[in-house]
Amino acid sequence: MKKLLLLPVILSTVFISSFGQINPVAQEFANTITETDLNRHLSVLASDALQGRETGKAGQKMAAAYIAEQFKLLGLAGPVTGGGNLGYYQTVPLYTSKPGEIYISTKKGKHHNFEDIIYYGSAETQGEVNKEIIFGGSGSEADFELLDIKNKAVLILSENKNGWRASARVAIEKGASMLFVVNTTSDDNFKEMVKTYNGSLNEGRLSLEKSVPESTGGVFFVSPTFAEELFNTNIKSLKADSKKIQSVTISYNISLQVDEIYSENVLGYLEGTDLKDELVVITAHYDHLGIGDDEVFNGADDDGSGTVSVLELAQAFVDAKNAGKGPRRSILFMTVTGEEKGLLGSEYYAANPIFPLENTVVDLNIDMVGRVDPAHEDNPDYVYLVGADRLSSELHDISEKTNKTYTNLTLDYTYNDETHPDRIYYRSDHWNFAKNNVPIIFYFNGVHADYHQSTDTIEKIDFNILKTRAQLVFHTAWVLANKNQRLVLNNTALQKGN
Ligand SMILES: [Zn+2]
Repeated sequence: MKKLLLLPVILSTVFISSFGQINPVAQEFANTITETDLNRHLSVLASDALQGRETGKAGQKMAAAYIAEQFKLLGLAGPVTGGGNLGYYQTVPLYTSKPGEIYISTKKGKHHNFEDIIYYGSAETQGEVNKEIIFGGSGSEADFELLDIKNKAVLILSENKNGWRASARVAIEKGASMLFVVNTTSDDNFKEMVKTYNGSLNEGRLSLEKSVPESTGGVFFVSPTFAEELFNTNIKSLKADSKKIQSVTISYNISLQVDEIYSENVLGYLEGTDLKDELVVITAHYDHLGIGDDEVFNGADDDGSGTVSVLELAQAFVDAKNAGKGPRRSILFMTVTGEEKGLLGSEYYAANPIFPLENTVVDLNIDMVGRVDPAHEDNPDYVYLVGADRLSSELHDISEKTNKTYTNLTLDYTYNDETHPDRIYYRSDHWNFAKNNVPIIFYFNGVHADYHQSTDTIEKIDFNILKTRAQLVFHTAWVLANKNQRLVLNNTALQKGN
């Protein structure tokens, strides 16, 4: 990235100024982004037929096929050499892991997973291991201070359901090989926990990695009775005389049932003219949550709205190119998979980019832009922007000026505050570009009552505001793709390097 900034600037006579005054050419093609077209695409992607577009499932495959078909109809190139569906697909290999043979053996016998123990994690032991297990009190730092837990197992009584997470961090730091947690007050409560975990863990967790080494993740939840029998005492005495509890030996086995599945990022490429080696990327995730309790999670806003925006931006830029007004830089329109499972598709792309990241000028990421959140009921003409100034204050300025010139939305920076607890900058696909020093803007309407519910449906979409927000992204992309010099990075971004 640094090197490229030193390249001589290619001057061009077709310099287009968009600062402050309206560029009628950009305006003409922005107007081809219409409510009708957005609605037409969304009525397919957010229909029940697409089954909530869950990563790796049939609905996601149908959505991918639809998007690739639109790219093909437009005449975009499929840029993935050897990639499926005419090069529009970047295959993303994923691992889905479910609990395999998991048990703990004590003097009293063998305890199987989902009986009075639950293993929660993605580590494997590669066979049965024997360990000394120490009682670690409530798992506070003070409790651990007095104990040598290196390479040993440790059992704690956690005061509340999620209190164990902090203990787990300390236990890992101190070299413990496994944490056992009692976080229910009765065996009946534990049975309830078994029901929940048995359901969710057996659905399979998706990840880019096959599994992790034993010591870096995972805990055994155990019932109160299990702990009492293990140390041959009762919970009351465990609490009262924690220092007097003698360690015992146990053995356990953890294996996972890991399957490889495949999902797809869908990419459409529009080649630029004199600056075609530089790339503007426009992203949205097209996956959603699938089906739960017999209800389809249509994900009309999340992120059907962003996906159809990408399709409409692609159409507008293609129309411009067909009229001899194509962008100077190339544009990659990319709808990514696996966002809801942990930003997996964009993480895979960033690790296996089709175009060099050092030539990637910007990522404009769109995730939920078709609704109005409760905070803006009185002023629906807004959009939250996140990240624009983090790596390039020039990007922030361009974004502001473009909005003032063309769309005049209220740009709300609430979520851009570094101290905001929601940490949105790290929570959608743009982060995988930003962490590689590629400047980004994230466009977002905020959360609402239908967020991640089966009620996130198309009839609740405000197509007028969706169109205006998509046009804002279009105009911003237009300026970024056509300006003479590529975006200047802030000094802080350059220092971080990559
Ligand atoms: Zn989303």
